[in-house]
Amino acid sequence: MKLGKRERRSAEREFGGTLGATCIPVFLPLTVLYLLSVCQSPRASVLQWPPPLPHTSHLWHPWVPAIIGGWIALQIFLYMLPVGKISQGLVLRDGSRLKYPINGFQALCVTGLLLVLCLWLGMPLGHLFELMVPLAVCAIVVAYLLSLYLYIRSFWASPHALALGGNTGNPLYDFFMGRELNPRIGSFDLKYFCELRPGLIGWVVLNLAMLMKEVELRDSPSLPMLLVNVFQLLYVTDALWNEEAVLTTMDIVHDGFGFMLAFGDLAWVPFTYSLQAAFLVVHPHTLSPLTALGIIILNGVGYYIFRRSNSQKNQFRRDPTHKSVAHLETIATATGKRLLVSGWWGFVRHPNYLGDILMALAWSLPCGVSHILPYFYVIYFTILLIHREDRDERQCRAKYGVAWDTYCRRVPYRIIPYLY
Ligand code: NDP
Repeated sequence: MKLGKRERRSAEREFGGTLGATCIPVFLPLTVLYLLSVCQSPRASVLQWPPPLPHTSHLWHPWVPAIIGGWIALQIFLYMLPVGKISQGLVLRDGSRLKYPINGFQALCVTGLLLVLCLWLGMPLGHLFELMVPLAVCAIVVAYLLSLYLYIRSFWASPHALALGGNTGNPLYDFFMGRELNPRIGSFDLKYFCELRPGLIGWVVLNLAMLMKEVELRDSPSLPMLLVNVFQLLYVTDALWNEEAVLTTMDIVHDGFGFMLAFGDLAWVPFTYSLQAAFLVVHPHTLSPLTALGIIILNGVGYYIFRRSNSQKNQFRRDPTHKSVAHLETIATATGKRLLVSGWWGFVRHPNYLGDILMALAWSLPCGVSHILPYFYVIYFTILLIHREDRDERQCRAKYGVAWDTYCRRVPYRIIPYLY
């Protein structure tokens, strides 16, 4: 089934169009493997020559499919448990609303308890450090297979179930962007599951594994390793505690489920976001208490901005008459929805991105300033958020027209006041 001609024409091509959609699925998986290899090399220099490429025999380990398969099966099981509330997504094009289980936080807690039990029973969690490259290879293969399945099954989806962006008729581009908006097997929502479960929880499990490896090598965890683990655990816990908020994000509401999200969720997030912890295993660093305090304050400020601004907008969208947001100044739009022009959203147009970037910096600083590799996350993430902000602006301008232009005049800076 296809979208109407007019809808297909109106879908603007993103991520560099067909060229981007052809190159990114090759380039990004190689980047993950390269970064992991650099991280485990003694010099840890991204520009070293010859590059520290993994030997082909190190790309594969017989345990790895069982580990990844078992991990995904555990997360599916926890997702399916009838605990937590059921929430409705936004109204779809056919007027219906999908139901989603909100039990990600419970899944994180049960996973944490199981890990403690396994560690108590003597499971060598630190061994995951040696398996990082084969684990990443396997996760990449899973992302490819899942994307292929999603692409094929999308041809049986009804037209209203297709995403506007990933249906150009160009197979490479549509495979990358994703054709179907909310692919489901029964009530199991594949995109929603992948967004916050196996990759995100997997990321903090990998961090813990790096900490255990450090304990194995040096008898106790270092202060930088503890900071990285605690900061990132706070971030993941926050995402799962506020799981319902994901139902209104661009990923769920707008983007189809294709290689871009499948690879991002299953391979990119767990294996590149845990680079700082992996780096500290091979390249220990010491922090003075004062520096550590400065980094903790930076993370705290970033988290405060991130959480308060996200909560303010979510509350406003759920109930604009609620006492915490009713006093804020707003402007009307032709769609009937209003836009906040005071409070956090009157400070810059994406205050939540600013908070996120400050936290990203705080996660890199514990690794010192001798290498660029631990800063990969903050550099990449800043680029991602600038690009995401640009996509969101274009979508909001299309949605709100002149009201959006008024908002931009009232709040001229996008992410960083007086700078950007
Ligand atoms: P946002 O939460 O920033 O939402 C953008 C939407 O908010 C717009 O499309 C518009 O939607 C609404 N909006 C924008 N301006 C206003 C306003 N002035 N008043 C009221 N509503 C407004 O989108 P994201 O999904 O990009 O980000 C969510 C969080 O996730 C962020 O904190 C981000 O940093 C984080 N994130 C983290 C990633 C990671 O890998 N760690 C990756 C991507 C995001 P509408 O009007 O239709 O409601």
